[in-house]
Amino acid sequence: MARDWEQIQRTYQICTRCVMDTTDPEIAFDHDGICNHCTEVETRFKPRWFPDERGVGLLGQMIEEVRANGKGKRYDSIIGLSGGVDSAYLAVKVAEWGLRPLAVHVDAGWNSEIAVKNIDQIVTRVGLDLHTHVVDWDEMRDVQLAFMRSNVANLDVPQDHAFFAALYNYASANDIRYVISGSNYATESILPVSWGYDAMDARHLRTIHERFGTIPLKTFPVVDFLKYHYTYPKKMTVLRPLNLMPYRKDDAIAYLEKNYGFRYYGGKHYESRWTRFYEGYFLPAKFGYDKRKAHLSSMIVAGEITRDQALKELEKALYTDNELQEDKAFVAKKLGITVAELDDLVVQPRRYYWDYPNNEARARRFHALHASLQRVVGRF
Ligand SMILES: [Zn+2]
Repeated sequence: MARDWEQIQRTYQICTRCVMDTTDPEIAFDHDGICNHCTEVETRFKPRWFPDERGVGLLGQMIEEVRANGKGKRYDSIIGLSGGVDSAYLAVKVAEWGLRPLAVHVDAGWNSEIAVKNIDQIVTRVGLDLHTHVVDWDEMRDVQLAFMRSNVANLDVPQDHAFFAALYNYASANDIRYVISGSNYATESILPVSWGYDAMDARHLRTIHERFGTIPLKTFPVVDFLKYHYTYPKKMTVLRPLNLMPYRKDDAIAYLEKNYGFRYYGGKHYESRWTRFYEGYFLPAKFGYDKRKAHLSSMIVAGEITRDQALKELEKALYTDNELQEDKAFVAKKLGITVAELDDLVVQPRRYYWDYPNNEARARRFHALHASLQRVVGRF
């Protein structure tokens, strides 16, 4: 099933405020040439984003709530550590606020040495307990290859799903109420749906794996629909404190490097070679999606950089030839395929998430029903 935009050859257009452009097939512009992402940030996110005085009060309340609920418990919260900047900075802040989170790291097989060292440095210096969940590599590899063979765009689904599923399952099993998340509007408010379909859609994950995978999943962490949309939200609260404070990535990196022996790894999410290969080569080559545009646009609307700075950044090459050859060889070997097979997957016809069974419509119905039920019982 194709959507209308697939049939239309669009004239190239770039937003007059950010750097999102018609490589997002579903982008729309208003009469001033401002894109729907910029508008959505203003209408949907800014009302919940307080990098100001109001945030100070809200953050104080949040900390107090976690502390009060955690009295007498070994941990008052759980925090996922990826080895990247956002979660590392947050872990440090959370400890400074006097909270007692359990740090959880999900090892999906692609960790760089730098990421592992960063995690070690942080938990040791801050004094956090660390639980590492290692995803069975044969299963991880099989799901990742299945996604590549399905020819959809979001190949981060297997890693992201495993990460959140392991974290939520662990928090739920250990009766930990608060999940502290490093996700934030300052650096990631903009991401087109077609570039990165919902990683938490278990039906999407399972059906793609059933169709293109080769071994059964026995231990791969999955959160099914009802657990994700119903059971877990009743048992767990996800907190995003970085939205209640000024957050600048550069400052966070400098702070972590100076005080916690943190080492930065380069581009936004290039904490692993997989991510560098996927975002730096696979996605732009196969789909024309350059995730830097979404990231830089998020920073423009957050007031962190100017549009001119972003345009300059986009002129830089994503890869040098040598690096690309090295990463291709590395990724192919790790996945157990040849470089020729990997190259072939790049040129296979594109597919989209809606070409496979998924829970998108079910989630929409579920949330609409939930919202109207809440109105009926007077919770609004
Ligand atoms: Zn825009």
